[in-house]
Amino acid sequence: MIGNKYESNQTWSTSRVGQLVNDRKIRKNSRTSQSNEGAQYIENDVCLTEDDTSKVATVGQCPEGDTATTNNYERCENPDKKPARQRLLAVANRLPVSTVRKGEDVWHLEISAGGLVSALLGVKEFEARWIGWAGVNVPDTVGQNALTKSRAEKRCIPVFLDEEIVHQYYNGYFNNILWPLFQYLGLPQEDRLATTKSFQSHFAAYKKANEMFADVVIKNYEEGDVVWCHDYHLMYLPKCLKDFKKSMKVGWFLHTPFPSSEIHRTLPSRSELLCSVLAADLVGFHTYDYARHFVSACTRILGLEGPPEGVEDQGRLTRVAACPIDIDLDRFIRALELPQVQEHIRELKERFAGRKVMLGVDRLDMIKGIPQKILAFEKFLEENPDWRDKVVLLQIAVPTRTDVREYQKLTIPVHEIVGRINSRFGTLRTVPIHHLDRSLDFHALCALYAVTDAALVTTLKDGMNLVSYELVACQDSKRGVLILREITVYAIRMFE
Ligand code: UDP
Repeated sequence: MIGNKYESNQTWSTSRVGQLVNDRKIRKNSRTSQSNEGAQYIENDVCLTEDDTSKVATVGQCPEGDTATTNNYERCENPDKKPARQRLLAVANRLPVSTVRKGEDVWHLEISAGGLVSALLGVKEFEARWIGWAGVNVPDTVGQNALTKSRAEKRCIPVFLDEEIVHQYYNGYFNNILWPLFQYLGLPQEDRLATTKSFQSHFAAYKKANEMFADVVIKNYEEGDVVWCHDYHLMYLPKCLKDFKKSMKVGWFLHTPFPSSEIHRTLPSRSELLCSVLAADLVGFHTYDYARHFVSACTRILGLEGPPEGVEDQGRLTRVAACPIDIDLDRFIRALELPQVQEHIRELKERFAGRKVMLGVDRLDMIKGIPQKILAFEKFLEENPDWRDKVVLLQIAVPTRTDVREYQKLTIPVHEIVGRINSRFGTLRTVPIHHLDRSLDFHALCALYAVTDAALVTTLKDGMNLVSYELVACQDSKRGVLILREITVYAIRMFE
């Protein structure tokens, strides 16, 4: 590994488990003097509560009536309240709460499961607002106003995109082109001619959607705010924001791998995207390797300079850093002490008594390697008959991108394999695999982590796997085993 060029923090590569254990001891001691706040504390600036993570909230109209627009979300808060800390506008494709419409102006909000949400729950130093796509098509103003107000209670500001833009930008450009490319799967081969023809319109929609995000950011921006753009969905956003105001502080962080420049070179819009990202002041990646790939792409494709701090274009420096995301450790440790979580742990121990519990927690995504994991488990049972009634695999497969055909296609083979293994090795009393096609609430997840004997992380390619962190955080008394596939190399490095 080459030196420490992109600010890779050395403490990450030293004994992370030792650090987690020490942190936990220190926190435990300090908590004994504090009162137990139970489930109602404010998580952080994103204003999610512990309660949010475990139940659906129904939100109707705000007291003021129905006149709110995307830039007056603060009406739902105390107007006299002055933020004491630095304001942060976190802009991501999705808000951390998903929405179901229950009436003309009534919405159900539910916290979304995912690494980005978990990671941002740990951001506490800022007075944060979250800006993201509403996730639903809301063509009418009444609906948009009601949704904007309901989200404002969570300090979330929705961006409304129409169906056609969503189709081209979400399903077309980044699910079909950017996502597979960044995971080293290449550009879509199937129906290649049609893809090439539609590429321009998909990219135009991508830029248009990014401009619509920029409009909402600009409406909500106050002098001195820091704007933090997340992920490959918003690579065009830094440029839009800097075109509006050069002095705006803009960061961009990628939550997936950034591929080698040889792979990035195959993307038709490669130069425009790189230039747009370089408009940011700071560009962040999970690992040193991804940062290095990005700098190589800028030097090889754009012909720019790559000094130790980042990328330089005619005297203007964009800093590039490796700064992996983390979890809010305290949130997990506190949860384990709650009576309902303890009760859940007791129930799970009783249910799986005499059997070793293996756990998989993944979105049902191609890169998570769920079929491969289940097939490996089948091989294990085949080769070790003694273990057949002594082990159970609990696989939580959180539905994701359910409107994308490739993702829909993944569900059926997974169900078939699980069915086959359960009928081969199951008995009247037990089945070897419990497969859940749904997400669990935070407390249920903590209880599962706590009773796990062996967790399996089998990603084929991944940004940064937070489930592995969370498992370690909840294994205080258990001391089970975390099995990481070799490719999950960066998580391995952290837990060394
Ligand atoms: N998660 C959750 N409920 C579930 C399953 C997962 O809240 O039923 C959360 C989990 O706690 C973790 C995140 O989803 O924080 C998954 O993050 P990871 O980095 O492992 O994968 P990603 O989904 O970001 O690819």
